[in-house]
Amino acid sequence: MKTNCDIIRDLLPLYAEHITSEATNALVEDHLTECEACRAELEQMEQPVPVRPEAQPDAPLRRIRAALQRRSIRAAIGSVLAALCALAMIFWMGTARVPATTEQAHFWTYNRKENGADICILEVQGEGVWLDMEGTFSWGKPQITVRAMRYRFPGVHRVLTALVGSDRSTVWVMVSRTQLLTVDCADQTLYYRDGQLVDRYIVQENPDGTFDYAYGTDQEYGIDYKKG
Ligand SMILES: [Zn+2]
Repeated sequence: MKTNCDIIRDLLPLYAEHITSEATNALVEDHLTECEACRAELEQMEQPVPVRPEAQPDAPLRRIRAALQRRSIRAAIGSVLAALCALAMIFWMGTARVPATTEQAHFWTYNRKENGADICILEVQGEGVWLDMEGTFSWGKPQITVRAMRYRFPGVHRVLTALVGSDRSTVWVMVSRTQLLTVDCADQTLYYRDGQLVDRYIVQENPDGTFDYAYGTDQEYGIDYKKG
């Protein structure tokens, strides 16, 4: 009986696959009718083997994930660069300066006594217009020159100044009554003496091609000299 079972069990896998001969089938079936253990063995063999889902190789997935990651990194870098460009653009627009024309810059002057000294103050008004001093100021200089400058994009400059909170541009200059104040504008140069707008006259042409100038009114110099 025991040996019989061993033989039957050797045959069972083949029997279960239906590849055994008729004679073997008869032998096995004959045994199975009387042997519960072998029946159970066959039953177990015939149970569908639970197919474990095979672990998918995730290399392609990983590649996709890496690609997505690269793409999002690239997108992040792109947006950071775009933001930096926008900032640089705003900064450039906010600080871009050009000489102002006399149409954009409106000047007025007034005289004042300060600590016993007579001084003249020139102020400029105009959107985004300010004064840029040429060199350093000194009361001893016979001539002070300022340049009327303008922020190319006054609106952007205003926003930038509001954000950064520093605007060191000045809109006025103070000189003594004897100092000549030259105001360079984009379209012309203005001369102020003693708080008054004056003209420049050519007094003398030097051999080296330079000129000696006088600054004053038409009544003072108009008859003798030419404006220049
Ligand atoms: Zn058996």
